Amino acid sequence: MVTIIDGKKISTDIKNELKEQVEQLKEKNIEVCLCVIQVGADPASTIYVRNKKKACEYIGIKSLSYELPEDTAEEQLIELINELNQRKDVHGILVQLPLPKHIDEDRIIQTISPDKDVDGFHPESVGRLSIGHKGFVSCTPAGVVQLLKRYNIGIEGKECVIIGRSNIVGKPMAMLMLRENATVTVCHSKTRNLSEITSRADILIVAIGKPKFITKEYVKQGAVVIDVGMHRNENNKLCGDVDYDDVLEKVSAITPVPGGVGPMTIAMLMYNCVLAANYKLI
Ligand code: NAP
Repeated sequence: MVTIIDGKKISTDIKNELKEQVEQLKEKNIEVCLCVIQVGADPASTIYVRNKKKACEYIGIKSLSYELPEDTAEEQLIELINELNQRKDVHGILVQLPLPKHIDEDRIIQTISPDKDVDGFHPESVGRLSIGHKGFVSCTPAGVVQLLKRYNIGIEGKECVIIGRSNIVGKPMAMLMLRENATVTVCHSKTRNLSEITSRADILIVAIGKPKFITKEYVKQGAVVIDVGMHRNENNKLCGDVDYDDVLEKVSAITPVPGGVGPMTIAMLMYNCVLAANYKLI
């Protein structure tokens, strides 16, 4: 029997748990607050921002939003972030990426206070993750670990192969799986004999950005397959980096697209906001 990992359900469970924690913080006079900044009106970003606000509303997190015009100067954005860094009532700051080309994304990420870096993209957060210190973890990889744990899929000692080495998915994913005591291999576009390596995986995590790239030839019998990819096909339907129907006969568990990893990203963002508010208590 194949287990279809239900990210929608797990993300709702997490959001309900956070709702209780937000209530408890309110009793201590702390109103968890996330500030979301969007520059320009990229339609995909607008949808992501709207979904983040909706999740905040559901959990009881206050959301502040700044919708800045496309031609906002980098210095103006930096000034706003510095102002938010100082505000005691703001716990998390998120700048929706991508930013317009005239703005240096790295500089913006580094301007956000590491104490409010709920996306987990600041070099200090990345450093903390790699040396095993507490801190904010990039939301999508953190969501993948939650899916595995909440489905009681053992990670320790397992062969885990990750395809993709981006700063927001592949690399933090590798660090997290290492932290969970998996034996980790990271593959990328220069990897030779990809299918030979992926066929060794007990847990195969795919973040490659190519629709339906992974077919059954890449998958070991009984493997757990986590599909991070997200694409719209020619009929405007969502699909992942894995050819779901093709690999289904071989896997023991798999995340569907939609309804797998996708909903976990926002749930873990909410988790990081509550963590940020709790840091204030320490
Ligand atoms: P990315 O920055 O484009 O990185 C893709 C990675 O895949 C790169 O490391 C690249 O290698 C590697 N790659 C490309 N072609 C390959 C090939 N033929 N063989 C092996 N490796 C190959 O993408 P990303 O931001 O990590 O995102 C990956 C996917 O996840 C996308 O579909 C994205 O939409 C999705 N995503 C979903 C969520 C969510 O919430 N569910 C969040 C973030 C991303 P090189 O480094 O050598 O170029």
